[in-house]
Amino acid sequence: KDSNPNEPEFLQAVDEVANSIIPFIHANEKYRGNHILERMVEAERIIIFRVPWVDDIGNVQVNRGYRVEMNSAIGPFKGGLRFHPSVNLSVLKFLAFEQVFKNSLTTLPLGGAKGGSNFDPKGKSDNEVMRFCQSFMTELFRHIGPNTDIPAGDIGVGGREIGYLFGQYKRIKNEFTGVITGKSLSYSGSLIRPEATGYGCIFFVVEMLKTKQQTLNDKVVVISGSGNVAQFSCKKAIELGAKVVTMSDSSGYIYDEDGIDDEKLNFIMNLKNNKRGRIKEYTDTFDAKYVANARPWSVSCDIAIPCATQNELNKEEAQALIDNGCILVAEGANMPCTPNAVRLLHSHKIAFAPGKASNAGGVSVSGLEMSQNSIGYSWTAEKLEERLLNIMKEIHKQCVKYGKGDDEYIDYVKGTNIAGFVKVADAMIAQGVV
Ligand code: NDP
Repeated sequence: KDSNPNEPEFLQAVDEVANSIIPFIHANEKYRGNHILERMVEAERIIIFRVPWVDDIGNVQVNRGYRVEMNSAIGPFKGGLRFHPSVNLSVLKFLAFEQVFKNSLTTLPLGGAKGGSNFDPKGKSDNEVMRFCQSFMTELFRHIGPNTDIPAGDIGVGGREIGYLFGQYKRIKNEFTGVITGKSLSYSGSLIRPEATGYGCIFFVVEMLKTKQQTLNDKVVVISGSGNVAQFSCKKAIELGAKVVTMSDSSGYIYDEDGIDDEKLNFIMNLKNNKRGRIKEYTDTFDAKYVANARPWSVSCDIAIPCATQNELNKEEAQALIDNGCILVAEGANMPCTPNAVRLLHSHKIAFAPGKASNAGGVSVSGLEMSQNSIGYSWTAEKLEERLLNIMKEIHKQCVKYGKGDDEYIDYVKGTNIAGFVKVADAMIAQGVV
């Protein structure tokens, strides 16, 4: 705590992992006496830089850019870029730390990193976003590379931003490589990458339900967010027979009692991805309730999938979910449930999947995008979806291996942390004191 002052999100993420890992280290001689956890919480490298750019009326603007390269023991650094006004070192260190464990679980050779800027793309023109991305990459390019560090998207960094970032990298380096993932199909992106996090999350939920001899069919699902992860979680959940009744953005949520169907979801995708509108506008076209300045956790459901941002589901909201009969919570976002909420869910034996496991589908298909770029070949959507499904099943299996208790309750937090830790720790020990 003393060496990371004013970093509450980072400390929160480390605390959660340490709670599972410290007893495991004590019980396993191999991991004792080599300061393995102390080394893992220290980033290998952090880059902080100035991002100056000129807005549409000719004013000079400046933002702060970051890349936190946390751990490269099992593969090159890999993790998304976030553009949001709330971005600071604490948030990015928490995300990079979580990424190390998540990437370890994917079965692919990927280290962990995260980066971004306090730049807010909201309300900016395409030209302003392009100039910002070009300036950001003009510094970042020297720290990344297809075998060194491969960024991707995250909040505020979608297809448009990835395109501008990739274009600037290619121009500076004069090389066309798989240095960034989440690229569009027209310039060597991968099929299924946009869908991967949401689809993967639902595949994971299906595995969790199997342990209760249940399926998604007819389950009522509450989703927060209306961005990439929320959209494709909704799509796959509908496809598998669930009824999704809410989506949200940072201004409020919509509640559609009849369920969001394909047509309504297409409307939301167009609204959010093309028109960059607000979720409230859903009620202009469809019969639904809009609740301003609120999150959807008081809506009665079987399954809750928070897909917006960190700490968006607190203890009181977890209590409301439990009181309303919710049996399963799976994190689509990174760390959306507060530690108190998670404790409460555990104490009521509600099935709870941490994002490190349930949202690992995105980085998994990013890993597959890297493989395709390396061999200069594109796999079909069917093959990629099958690989994604198998990876999510494998992650679930690892969680059960390390997280199943004597009472058959699966502690997915413990399972995820230990399974993720073992692979990275073994690689670090094998590589000496580095
Ligand atoms: P998007 O930018 O596409 O969407 C984010 C959504 O969350 C929007 O609806 C946004 O609303 C809402 N949101 C953002 N910040 C806040 C906030 N402070 N309070 C309330 N709502 C907020 O991002 P993604 O869907 O890509 O990412 C969502 C989460 O999933 C993040 O935690 C991310 O780290 C995680 N994740 C994403 C992956 C991916 O592949 N994209 C992979 C793994 C994890 P508004 O429009 O009002 O800002």
